[in-house]
Amino acid sequence: MNLLPSTDARDPDALFSIADEVKMIPPWSVAGACASFAFIQYLFWVVLPSTRHHPSTDPLGLRFYFALSWSALVALYVLMVGYVSRDAPQRNMSTRLWIVICLVLPGGIGSVLYFLLRQPKIASCPSCGTVILSGFHFCPHCAHQSSASCGRCYRGVRVTDLYCVNCGHDLTTDNTPARLHARPS
Ligand SMILES: [Zn+2]
Ligand SMILES: [Zn+2]
Repeated sequence: MNLLPSTDARDPDALFSIADEVKMIPPWSVAGACASFAFIQYLFWVVLPSTRHHPSTDPLGLRFYFALSWSALVALYVLMVGYVSRDAPQRNMSTRLWIVICLVLPGGIGSVLYFLLRQPKIASCPSCGTVILSGFHFCPHCAHQSSASCGRCYRGVRVTDLYCVNCGHDLTTDNTPARLHARPS
C-alpha cells in the first residue's frame, strides 16, 4: 500500500482553482482590457510623437518599456473591475463600492484591499436551502455536510486525501458518506 499521499493528486486542484478564478473575469472586461491596451499603444506611438516639435531623444528601449508598462497597467485595471463585478456579488459585498475603491486608489492598492478584505463566498445548502458560507463543513440548520472534513479534527480535507494533513488521521477509517460528500459548486 502506498503510504505517501500522492503529489500529483494535489496539483490539478491548485490548477483548477486558478482556472476558476480566471473564468470569473467576464468577456466584456477581457475585450475592454485588449482595447485599452491597444489604445494606450496608439497614444504612445502615434498621438504622442505627433504632438512633439522635435523627435523624442529617449532610447527606443525606454519608450517600449513605458508604452508596455502603461498599457499593461490600464489593461489590468479593466480586468480587475471585471473580476470584482463578478466576484463581489457572490460574497455579499457591494460591487459598486469596491469597483470605485479599485479605480480610485492609486497603484492597485484598491485591488490589494479587495483581496485582503473580501468575505467568504456564499452558497445555499443543497439539502435545505439555508445560506451557508464557503468555509462551512456542515449546514447550521440541517447538518448536511457541504465539504469533506477529517473525522478526528473536523478540519477540511480533500476528498482524494488518504490522511488528514492537520492531524494525520487515517481518513479511510471514516465512514464513506462523511468523507465523500461532494462540495456544492
Ligand atoms: Zn441545510
Ligand atoms: Zn484531522
